[in-house]
Amino acid sequence: MRYKEQREQVLETVHLAYQADLIRMSAGNISLRTEDDMVVITPSGIKYRNMTVKDISVVDLEGEPIDGPPPSSETPMHTAIYRHISRAKGICHTHSRYGMIQAHLQEDVPLTNIELMMSGAPIPVAPWAAPGTEKAGEVTVDIFQSRPELHVILLRQHGLVALGGSLAQAYEHAYNAEVGLETHYKVRLVQAPQSFTEAQIQEIKDVYGL
Ligand SMILES: [Zn+2]
Repeated sequence: MRYKEQREQVLETVHLAYQADLIRMSAGNISLRTEDDMVVITPSGIKYRNMTVKDISVVDLEGEPIDGPPPSSETPMHTAIYRHISRAKGICHTHSRYGMIQAHLQEDVPLTNIELMMSGAPIPVAPWAAPGTEKAGEVTVDIFQSRPELHVILLRQHGLVALGGSLAQAYEHAYNAEVGLETHYKVRLVQAPQSFTEAQIQEIKDVYGL
């Protein structure tokens, strides 16, 4: 089997994200970029619960099928990010609950907790683009290009996309962002969340060596 190790890595991340309730049924999708610039990605319409290594798809950077079943319908967003953002080696696109809520609120999420800081907050909401379209790639690429420190974007009225220097990093960003977004949202139900001050940001950076 071609790209067996990378397919196993994608499947392993699917299991992690499924158990963490970041993805469900067949919503959301996960990919990595190989050394030779291929994209190993979850397939179209196969339920995560039943997915096996041979169900993982391989496409080139233009989204042309190379191996395996038809890739996720949202492949154009992944390939656009890999083509234009060289630091992206892994992508987790989730329909996680608080990512979706904040994406529907359509407001950028300020830096109010450490998890959001790790995601590169403030976290922007991209302009609307229907899932699976080329435009969904363009709107996210524009933001990631203009914000080199940013790991997470909310997709307007849709979900969340996280990138990383590896698939493990992308997953970590997606997971952290969800915890940060949940905290931000729930605090907001009680009182206005406080953004970190510049002094607090510096203190946190010093502690974490950022
Ligand atoms: Zn989606």
